[in-house]
Amino acid sequence: MSTQLKVVRGDITQMTVDAIVNAANTSLLGGGGVDGAIHRAGGPAILEDCKKIRNKQGGCAVGEAVITTAGKLPATYVIHTVGPVWQGGHKGERDLLSNCYRNTLTLAVEQGIRTVAFPNISTGIYGYPKEEAATVAIDTVRDYMAAHPGRIEEISFVCFDEENYRLYQKKLSYAI
Ligand code: ADP
Repeated sequence: MSTQLKVVRGDITQMTVDAIVNAANTSLLGGGGVDGAIHRAGGPAILEDCKKIRNKQGGCAVGEAVITTAGKLPATYVIHTVGPVWQGGHKGERDLLSNCYRNTLTLAVEQGIRTVAFPNISTGIYGYPKEEAATVAIDTVRDYMAAHPGRIEEISFVCFDEENYRLYQKKLSYAI
């Protein structure tokens, strides 16, 4: 069974999936953008879990991923991953962004998660060019699923803005 890849326009906090992904920062203490929206909608249980992880391992490095409850959200879990800040493209941004998608999926598979929704990591406050970020996201997810067939049923790319939505629709319409 192959994994279904979907593009959704909207707010990731509304997604009824096993795990939504948060574009967090290294502190895991919440921030703006999608991070703020997830903590606001999910309530304090998410931050409590994040603090426990901080106490154990001192936050989350760029490209890594950690998992918490989703609190009051319709999803069961939140997987928090930290995207790179865009610094012109010669500071390893591509590999770090790819690590976000790969490490999130590794954690999902370890937890038996079958449905995952990603935001467009790093393309907001962190300034990663949207077209390049979409290519990294789709290529990394496709490569991961080809190497782990049948482990995840459905992966949604949740696009908050029109530009990302168009980019993902265009890129995914080729060769699914
Ligand atoms: P980063 O710091 O990784 O750039 P941001 O949260 O600023 O993270 O932005 C990442 C992406 O998430 C952006 O494309 C932004 O438009 C999008 N975004 C913001 N709020 C939401 C939301 N509620 N649901 C889904 N995506 C969102």
